[in-house]
Amino acid sequence: MIEVKKIEETNLADNPVIAQMSNYDHEQLLFCNDNATGLKAIIAVHNTVLGPALGGTRMWSYSNEMEALNDVLRLSRGMTYKNAISGLNLGGGKAVIMGDAKTMKSEAFFRRFGKFVNSLAGKYITAEDVGISPSDMLWVSMETAHVVGLPGKSGDPSPITAHGTYVGMKACANVQFGSDSLSGKKIAVQGVGHVGEYLVEYLSKENADIYISDIDQDSLKRVSEKYGATVVGPDEIYDIDMDIYAPCALGATVNDDTLSRLKCSIIAGAANNQLKIEKVHGQAVMDKGMIYAPDYAINAGGVISCYAEVKNLSSDWAMAKADDIYATIKNIVERSRTENVPTYAIANKMAEERVEAIGKVKLPL
Ligand code: NAD
Repeated sequence: MIEVKKIEETNLADNPVIAQMSNYDHEQLLFCNDNATGLKAIIAVHNTVLGPALGGTRMWSYSNEMEALNDVLRLSRGMTYKNAISGLNLGGGKAVIMGDAKTMKSEAFFRRFGKFVNSLAGKYITAEDVGISPSDMLWVSMETAHVVGLPGKSGDPSPITAHGTYVGMKACANVQFGSDSLSGKKIAVQGVGHVGEYLVEYLSKENADIYISDIDQDSLKRVSEKYGATVVGPDEIYDIDMDIYAPCALGATVNDDTLSRLKCSIIAGAANNQLKIEKVHGQAVMDKGMIYAPDYAINAGGVISCYAEVKNLSSDWAMAKADDIYATIKNIVERSRTENVPTYAIANKMAEERVEAIGKVKLPL
């Protein structure tokens, strides 16, 4: 039977590799080593029931190989859920390169990596992630066609991610306040980087009362002057009176400490992994009567943009597809209320249900 199920996060560091793969329900891992260039990487294909496994390549100085393995297993499984809930015909995959992104990069290094990606014959499609730049990906593309997000192609995914986050926020408002309108709502955007700034632009056009925080003073100044947003401190943001908290910077900001301070009734932002411990803080948010828009469902604009590139679809198509995030989030939130189950758990269930259902459709082929 084709089935994909989230498992409890545990410390699997002592487990043999195959046991870890089995725990996370992975299809395939490719361990890559090249002494000549110093490349050490792991490519993880979690699930290809819906289509080729798409997910970025991360370059990071992991303290050991097990840390890298845990990261790639967790991230690639996350991509299966994100792609599934977004209605894309893509599976979940991810790659990690172990090493210092400041000192180890070279053309040969990334072309060697591209050869490893190519050896999977399209089962895995790569893209940029933390520590990787468009020029690195250009080197990868010299050895494989299975790469997206190249300069001159689908481009910066942030505007589409912001658009999806904006419409997802409206879906939450519809359920919580009885109207899509964000006019006059006090909204705190944490992080005004690529996605955060585009989100602020949408919110300002709708006359929301916008508060922003960032650790980059230049971005703060520019965005506050351009859109008339009020600046608050990086820690102060958790204490202000607000209707909506929009995390667009870091993960794990919904935790024991912040939940005792946050006064909003909606949490809807683009950051990945917002709940520190999914099960604990997803439940706690619901117990406080807040709506939490599951991160991987509301921030799927970026992967929608990659999908458009894979399928040769226009940016207009991608923008329209990101509009579907409104219906997805509304469905999740309404099901959460009806079934009295936290939104994160409903989202996981919906993603699993899609993989299972489409798996049955595909089997007879
Ligand atoms: P970015 O690096 O451009 O912006 C992040 C901003 O957060 C920066 O301005 C940074 O200074 C700020 N920041 C860092 N620490 C902070 C703190 N403690 N308090 C306040 N601000 C802080 O990144 P981005 O591309 O805008 O992505 C934002 C988030 O959305 C990330 O979590 C990313 O993983 C997620 N995301 C992005 C995309 C996309 O299309 N770019 C897609 C999906 C998810």
